[in-house]
Amino acid sequence: MSEKNCEYTLGKVFDFLANELEENERTKVLDHLEDCQACQKEYAIESKISKIITSSSMEAQTSFASKMQSRLQSEI
Ligand SMILES: [Zn+2]
Repeated sequence: MSEKNCEYTLGKVFDFLANELEENERTKVLDHLEDCQACQKEYAIESKISKIITSSSMEAQTSFASKMQSRLQSEI
């Protein structure tokens, strides 16, 4: 599993930060991030956004949570 898998990783970064990944998915994302600078960059950006969200007001957090929820529901 040494192949580059940027598409997969970038698709999972947001869920990774939101702690919504299965253990094996987390491992895959971390493994890829370790040797892919392009994805590290993307991860850093997402991580910053996620920090802003978690450190911002209650209102922003609530709307973020409901956004995540409706996204999950639309996937079912
Ligand atoms: Zn990558």
